[in-house]
Amino acid sequence: MTLFAAFKPIAAIATTPQSTQLLHPLCQSLTATLYVPETLSLIDSTTCHYQGSLKNHLATIWAENRAFIFCLATGAVIRLIAPLLEDKASDPAIIVVEPTGQYVISLCSGHQGGADRLAQLIAQQLNATPIITGASHSLNLPAIDILGLPFGWRKGPGDWTGVSHAIACQKRVQVIQEAGSKLWQDNLPQNHPFYFGFPEIGENNLIEARVWISATKRKFAEGSTLPKVQWYPRVLWVGIGCIRGTSQGLIESAIEKIFQKYHLATEAIAGIATIDIKADEVGIVEYCQEKQYPLLTYSSDVLNTIKVPNPSEVVKEEVGTPSVAEAAAIYGANYWFNYGGSGDKVGLEKSLLVTKQVVKSDNEAVTVAIAQSQLEYTGKEGKIYLVGMGPGSLEQMTPAAKTAINQADAIIGYSLYLELIQSLQSPGQIVESLPITKEKKRAQRAIYLAKWGLSVAVISSGDCGIYGMAGLVLEELKNINWDGKNPSIEVFPGITALQAAAARVGTPLMHDFCAISLSDLLTPWDVIKKRLEAAAIGDFVTALYNPRSQTRQNQIIEAQTIFLQHRNHQTPVALVRCAYRQDENIILTNLQEMLEHKIDMLTTVLIGNSSTFLHQNWMITPRGYNQFRR
Ligand code: SAH
Repeated sequence: MTLFAAFKPIAAIATTPQSTQLLHPLCQSLTATLYVPETLSLIDSTTCHYQGSLKNHLATIWAENRAFIFCLATGAVIRLIAPLLEDKASDPAIIVVEPTGQYVISLCSGHQGGADRLAQLIAQQLNATPIITGASHSLNLPAIDILGLPFGWRKGPGDWTGVSHAIACQKRVQVIQEAGSKLWQDNLPQNHPFYFGFPEIGENNLIEARVWISATKRKFAEGSTLPKVQWYPRVLWVGIGCIRGTSQGLIESAIEKIFQKYHLATEAIAGIATIDIKADEVGIVEYCQEKQYPLLTYSSDVLNTIKVPNPSEVVKEEVGTPSVAEAAAIYGANYWFNYGGSGDKVGLEKSLLVTKQVVKSDNEAVTVAIAQSQLEYTGKEGKIYLVGMGPGSLEQMTPAAKTAINQADAIIGYSLYLELIQSLQSPGQIVESLPITKEKKRAQRAIYLAKWGLSVAVISSGDCGIYGMAGLVLEELKNINWDGKNPSIEVFPGITALQAAAARVGTPLMHDFCAISLSDLLTPWDVIKKRLEAAAIGDFVTALYNPRSQTRQNQIIEAQTIFLQHRNHQTPVALVRCAYRQDENIILTNLQEMLEHKIDMLTTVLIGNSSTFLHQNWMITPRGYNQFRR
């Protein structure tokens, strides 16, 4: 499953036959390697023997794995890993699965190593309870040391432990955010300890820690004991022009020098921008490769269209545009508009932060300008998980769907459904609900966030591909000429309403059946009517979705009339409302009398075929037509 990609490679260790049995299926769905001692037999080729002591074996495989899953006593695990642990920024995630499989413990590297997330994902696979002891998790707060990861921010210096501790103690933590997305601020629980902005004079002592989110390199005042940390959103685009043959070394040192002069953080560099004829300039290309910066290039015609503070006639004569560095920096900082981003395009020029600076050495010269983007570059390829959450209760949702919801950076769906899955959400996730009629907007928003680099779970009730959001998202992607890769798509099926309804009343779908939505908002009523007639004539068991709303009262009456013309009046009909939800209500009736009961938008109507019957309050459709039995 690609959901686990961020944690791979994963090694699992079992030392008893029982723990091997417990971890083996898990390792298969995670594509993890399961190691067992030589005294145990191997289950299949995905299991390996380790020779000698487990301690030595662990030392051998420690560096090559990003996560370890142990099915062992926690004490034993602690002793085994203690000599290998180095730093929470680099240690692998350590998970302990309790031997009965009821609990999954995030033991070590909960935040940066991802153990908290992985423990939750594994718990969902095993239907177990995750045990996460980190303070921020228990307060439902995003952990400060991984806050910016979804947005591609880079971590700066600071007292991370001190700030985390202040947050855990719910002390007042000042946040000064000068760059980057503020989406995380919209998704904090009430009573969070963050304080945005600057306190009144004299109130400063109420601040007990500080978080800077900025492209500026802050100097922490000497002697200050206030714990502080810095995150750098990647918002700075460096425009470069240079004489042919200028070395990578000069380019790098020029950029560093200018960043220093203007107190800017090189960690906040999003990418490099230049003119297209420099796309093969060795110094620039090598610099970008080494730093893993994207290199954006623009033609002189494009660069020509922008007004810059320092145009040059000489440059214009040479390359056809009076500005390379400044104009390219400005275009780079507004790269987002090429992807259909929104915002104020009129003031492109306003993004220029540092006008062009020339750095020379012998016969090399480089010109640098810096512009700041409104939206940070994440450096990540986004994903969309199209998730069917089943009819309502969590037990009816697939573990894969639960995992997708838990794993996503952002969750988008209709508010009623989001409430039902609240317990699956992780602290720090972006959760956005849009009104029920705004499905298209919801799809567009998901695509926007995913193109930006987030993993986004789009939630539909039932199955996402049956009158759900999945189709809308794919249609929208097609409309914007999606390349099929970015964002990547994964579809998670769910139990659709007709299955849920059927299960609650027996086996009505045992023979050929069809589903028809009575909503004529997106389908002309003539078409729906034709399908109703065909289903009635074809003797299909028929599930009616969206049967009646406050504004659509007549459709269900017409549907009944059509079926009465072709089917016995006593044909069993089930009205299943809110299947698997708290206010579930089930009525077994027949075609003639069905309209005497409440039918609304939370109801699925199941109309039997000519051989469907009721027995002891179960609705049964025979598997075959008896007269044809051979
Ligand atoms: N994607 C959903 C269907 C969305 S259309 C699915 O696959 O189930 C919405 C319609 O589905 C509702 O009007 C109702 O007819 C039906 N529906 C959805 N959830 C239901 C539930 N829990 N019980 C009964 N009907 C339900």
